Amino acid sequence: MEIHVNQIEKRSWVEINLYQLRQNLIEYRSQLKRDAQIMAVIKADAYGHGDVQVAKLLSRCGVTMLAVSNIDEAIGLREAGIAGEILLLGYSSPIYAEVLRDFDLTQAIVSEEYAQALVETGIRVKCQFAVDTGMNRIGIDADNADECEHIIRFYANKLNVTGLFTHFCAADSTGSESTAFTWEQVSKFKAVVDRVSDLRLPFIHCCNSVAGLRYLDGSKVFDGIGDIVRLGIILYGLAPDNSITLPAGILPALSWKSSISMVKHVHAGESVGYGRTYVADNERVVATVTTGYADGLNRLLSNRGFVLIHGKKAPIIGRICMDQTMVDVTHIPNVKMGDKVVILGKSGDIEYNANDMAKDLNTIGYEVLCSISKRVQRFYLDS
Ligand SMILES: *Cc1c(COP(=O)(O)O)cnc(C)c1O
Repeated sequence: MEIHVNQIEKRSWVEINLYQLRQNLIEYRSQLKRDAQIMAVIKADAYGHGDVQVAKLLSRCGVTMLAVSNIDEAIGLREAGIAGEILLLGYSSPIYAEVLRDFDLTQAIVSEEYAQALVETGIRVKCQFAVDTGMNRIGIDADNADECEHIIRFYANKLNVTGLFTHFCAADSTGSESTAFTWEQVSKFKAVVDRVSDLRLPFIHCCNSVAGLRYLDGSKVFDGIGDIVRLGIILYGLAPDNSITLPAGILPALSWKSSISMVKHVHAGESVGYGRTYVADNERVVATVTTGYADGLNRLLSNRGFVLIHGKKAPIIGRICMDQTMVDVTHIPNVKMGDKVVILGKSGDIEYNANDMAKDLNTIGYEVLCSISKRVQRFYLDS
């Protein structure tokens, strides 16, 4: 199956294979213990995949819990008709208390001070306490379980508290130190959860994608601290870290493509692009690609990265421009105007995904995916 996009008309676009996304969900679920549940993390426009389209697919697959980063993302989903639980993982100003209630959103409580500020709005916001077990980002401090219990009980009546969650900070590292740290986070979280178990809060969760695979796979005792996994990066088919091998069948769902606008010969001694950073040492065939850094193609790939054309690597030469990029196609026959360029994805036998590009940029695949800008149109292979 292929998505048909008129390449001459399209400058820079992303194709998202919703069949693959569903496959990733099914494969991932099959790895977990039987009663585990999925909360799909679709923040940052579903890691660049389009949150509304992804939410609709997930809803057809029976996923009823979603997580986003902020109130605008949550409202966007509600306005597109997305039902179910939507948890905001990060701060919203208390001035939005009424909006949170009206859109039936669940707000993460980032601190005691924040809980108090919400109470003072007079609106009984639906919320879940973030519990800090070592990330030191948000949450009440699990190192003081007594205090945590006191805070949760105090606010349980004043707000509509529906759950507790924590976040692991080293679950993607398989080293023994990180693994021990994660288990320590688990036990700190469990201590807090146990103290308020009589409140019967329905949403207790701690695992991100990779923690779900490593710690919730049914072989480990993980009782009493929830069986909800916050599934992010692996849903999109990428490992959180190159050291993690994903189950077979989980593959990237996103490809990023572009077109060639012109092909020319550059003679020895001529330069290409701003700052004349590339100078041809002999006759080269150079193609111009209609994608630039404003589309999210990181400028640090200038004179370093490559794109795929006709199943071959075409090195980026000169500096990446705002909307265009020049590549060397001397070794690729018959490249012409309108030809398809693969920036992320498969071309012939070569695959270059967001994690591969991340490695070349010394960052993570998450950032590569989130950096593909809004003006890059998304097309869907629908399931
Ligand atoms: C982003 C996020 C996740 C998802 O993490 P992945 O590594 O993409 O699975 C889970 N929980 C919280 C609190 C997050 O911020």
